Amino acid sequence: MAVDYATLKKGGFMRQKQKNNFSLRLRTVGGHMSAEQLAKVAEVAEKYGEGYVHLTSRQGVEIPFIKLDQIEEVKNALAEGDVVPGVCGPRVRTVTACQGAAICQSGCIDTYTLAKELDERYFGYELPHKFKFGITGCQNNCLKAEENDVGIKGGMQVAWVEDKCIQCGVCVKACRNEAITLEDGKISINTGKCNYCGRCVKSCPVDAYDAQPGYIVSFGGTFGNHISKGETIIPFIESHEKLLKVCDAALKFFEQNGKAGERLKFTIDRTGKEAFEKAIKEAYENE
Ligand code: SF4
Ligand code: SF4
Ligand code: SF4
Repeated sequence: MAVDYATLKKGGFMRQKQKNNFSLRLRTVGGHMSAEQLAKVAEVAEKYGEGYVHLTSRQGVEIPFIKLDQIEEVKNALAEGDVVPGVCGPRVRTVTACQGAAICQSGCIDTYTLAKELDERYFGYELPHKFKFGITGCQNNCLKAEENDVGIKGGMQVAWVEDKCIQCGVCVKACRNEAITLEDGKISINTGKCNYCGRCVKSCPVDAYDAQPGYIVSFGGTFGNHISKGETIIPFIESHEKLLKVCDAALKFFEQNGKAGERLKFTIDRTGKEAFEKAIKEAYENE
């Protein structure tokens, strides 16, 4: 019987150059795996593979040298440890994330919770080509948000609270964009220079800033044969609900306008940026 390689690939089993061997991609979300899952992966790699795993550039885990006739057995063994195969091909891939505000002192948003939510909402959704979400917790951009089709970066919209301020000047030095000035006992923030990094908030010793966490979202990044930085359309998205709306709109635009084998960036280029920007802005503004 002919082997259905396309279906196997869709289910995470990628054909190796070695005949009848597959590198099995596992489903991970936000770079997070439990100790129980890791133990099961190690056991399967030892028993069915060659005793090692490959950690991919997008926080995935692959077990190479899985044999064609053991695929079902491997899936069942992994399921015992709550591990399932990932996906490949033209659909929404692994949602990647840095550790974010749950762990990292610089984090402005809870990246892992958002990664789980986006994974539940979109993972495996069929599209004209691969589609990558990446979430990074702050402007330090450890996760390199702009290389994804949709890159989400945590940020903070800040406002000075005059009656708490002791005029120490720490926030002025903390701001890398020279957006803050302190004159005559008053702080001014140049919003044109501010990039929502939140460093002023985190540096202030007396909490003299109000901070509204939010998202800086880029679209159309690619980092393969063609390298292109994703671009931001709305400077700062202040609500989780609006974030989901613009993500839905980007996927819908791609689904309706993309050609098979074309990444979102090239669909945007072909159809004209105006049409894509209109779709995103309408989703953002639509109450
Ligand atoms: S991007 Fe920011 S929140 Fe994420 S790990 Fe880096 S410094 Fe921490
Ligand atoms: S959020 Fe960042 S860029 Fe904006 S004023 Fe504060 S430190 Fe400066
Ligand atoms: S760090 Fe805080 S207390 Fe110091 S000048 Fe800035 S706002 Fe005022």
